[in-house]
Amino acid sequence: MMDVPLTIQSILRHGLSQFGRKTIVTRQADGGTVRQTFTELGARTERLAAALKRLGVTKGDRVGTFAWNSHRHLEAYFAVPNMGAVLHTINIRLFPQQLIHVINHAQDQVLLIDADLLPTIEGVAEQLDGVRHFVVLDKSVPQTSLPNVLAYEELLAEAGAGFDWPALDEDDPSALCYTSATTGNPKGVIYTHRSQYLHTMALGLVNNLGLCEADTLLPFVPMFHVNAWGLPFGAIAFGSTLVLPGSRPDAKAILDLMERERVTVAAGVPTIWLAAAELLEAGAYRLEAVRSVICGGAAIPPALLRRYDRLGLPVLHAYGMTETSPLASCAHLRTWMADWPQELKFQVRTTQGSASFGVEFRVVDEEGSDVPQDGKTFGQLLMRGPWVASEYYRDDRGADTFKDGWLYSGDIVTWDEDGYITIVDRAKDLVKSGGEWISSVDLENAIMAMDGVAEAAVIGVTHPRWQERPLACVVPKRDAQIRPTKEDILERLRSQFPKWWVPDDVVFVEEIPKSSVGKFQKRDLRERFAGYVFSDA
Ligand code: AMP
Repeated sequence: MMDVPLTIQSILRHGLSQFGRKTIVTRQADGGTVRQTFTELGARTERLAAALKRLGVTKGDRVGTFAWNSHRHLEAYFAVPNMGAVLHTINIRLFPQQLIHVINHAQDQVLLIDADLLPTIEGVAEQLDGVRHFVVLDKSVPQTSLPNVLAYEELLAEAGAGFDWPALDEDDPSALCYTSATTGNPKGVIYTHRSQYLHTMALGLVNNLGLCEADTLLPFVPMFHVNAWGLPFGAIAFGSTLVLPGSRPDAKAILDLMERERVTVAAGVPTIWLAAAELLEAGAYRLEAVRSVICGGAAIPPALLRRYDRLGLPVLHAYGMTETSPLASCAHLRTWMADWPQELKFQVRTTQGSASFGVEFRVVDEEGSDVPQDGKTFGQLLMRGPWVASEYYRDDRGADTFKDGWLYSGDIVTWDEDGYITIVDRAKDLVKSGGEWISSVDLENAIMAMDGVAEAAVIGVTHPRWQERPLACVVPKRDAQIRPTKEDILERLRSQFPKWWVPDDVVFVEEIPKSSVGKFQKRDLRERFAGYVFSDA
C-alpha cells in the first residue's frame, strides 16, 4: 500500500477540493456575522503561512494563539501546522502566573491575539521570554503598550498570494495544548499530524458524532480548549458549514446563532447548556434543524438531560481529556437496547458512553487488577489509542499518568457489560469515609435534580472519626419560588442513598467556583471549607 502521510495538509486539501463553496460564519461583536468560503480560507491560510515565514517562523517553532472562536483563529489552525510549525492555543482564562508559565514553557515565538484580549497580554508581557512578535487579529493596531505589534490583516495583505507547503512527516508535531490543571502548572500535550488526522476521521464516524457535509456545526467549546474538541478540523474534512461564536459569547448569542444559521450540531460544556435551557424553556427559540446537542467536558446532570428531552432536543453525552485529543467515548444507545424500559435507556444516555473505535479502555483497581464489567465496581479508567498522548511535553510529572503503554486517566469509573463507563468521580474528588468511597458526582446529581437548586458540589471534609465526610455546597436558584432547606435536601438524599453516603451538612453558597473552561473547581471549595466542623464531630 502507499505510505501517504496522514497530515493536516491533506485535511485542508480535501476540504478545499470537495467543499470550496461551503462557508465559515463568524459572529461579530455588534451581533452581525462575517462569512467566508472554504476557498477563501485556503487562500488566506497561504497568506498567513507566508507572513509567518517572513516573521522568521520555521519548522517546529511554536506559534501561540490567544483568541476567541473566529475565522482568523481557524486560519491559524491550518496555516501553522501545515507550514511545519506548532500551534499553541492558549487558554485566555488562565491566571497571569499560569499564562506566563505556558507561553515560556512552550517557547512561543509569535502570539496571535484578539484585540479585546490585548490587555491581558500587556499585563504579563515583561515576563515573556521568547516572544518576538505580537500580532493583533484585526485590520489595524489599537493603542497598546506591547512592543513589536503587527496587524494581522496588514500582514496578510503584504504577504501576497500562494505558499509552497513543505513536505511533512505524519509524526511531526502539529499542535500543543495545556491541560486545565487543577493543581500546579498546566501540563502540555503535543499532538502530531497523524494523531489529529485520525482523531478528525473519528469525528465523522456515525457511531461517534457522524459529522458530514449536511451539518452546520457550532462549537461553543473554545478553540483554546483541546482544539475545540477537534471540531474545526472535522468541519473542513467533512464539509460541514462552520459557525463560530466570536468574542464573549453567552447562551443567548449561541441560541440566536443556532436559530438563524439553522445549526444541526452544537457542542459545549454542561454549564452553557444549563444557561441555554432557561431561555429555551421560556419558548423564545425554534431550533428545528438541530440533530445533536453535544455535551461534554464534565458530566451532564441527569436533570439537565431530562429538560432537553422535554424540549425535544437530542443531547449526546461525550467524554474525553486533553490527553485524548479529546474524543474517547460517547453515549449512543445500541440497537439491542431499543426495547429496554425508557428509564434504563435514559440511564445509558447519562453514562460517559462506550469507547470510540480507535480507543481502548481498561478499568483497574488500586492493585492494578481489571475490575469486573458489572456496572458497580469502582476502578480507574485507562486508555490507549493513536490519538492518546504518551507523555507530557518537557515535564517529568507524567510518571503516574503514562505507564505500561496506558494513559491513567485519574477518572474513577464503573463499567458495564456493554463497555459503557460511568464516571463516579475524579480520583482526587472521591470522598473516602471510613475507608469506603462515596461518589460526590452521584450526590451532586441528586441535589441538582431538586426544584429550586441551581448548582451543587459535594466535597470531602476532614472528620476525626471517618477521615472524611461529605459536605454539600448548594446554590439555590435565584428566582425560585420554593427554595429547599437543608432538611429537604438531606431527606431527599436519605431516600436515594445508603445512610453513610448522606452528607453530614449542607451549606448554601453564592456560586460554585468554575475552572477556566467552565467546570466545577472543587479545590477552591475544599480550601474554603478546610476547617469545617460538623456539629456531631
Ligand atoms: P480536560 O483535559 O480539561 O478536558 O479535562 C478532562 C477531564 O474532564 C476528564 O478527565 C474528566 O474528569 C472530565 N470530563 C470530561 N468529559 C466528561 C464527561 N462527559 N463526564 C464527566 N467528566 C468529564
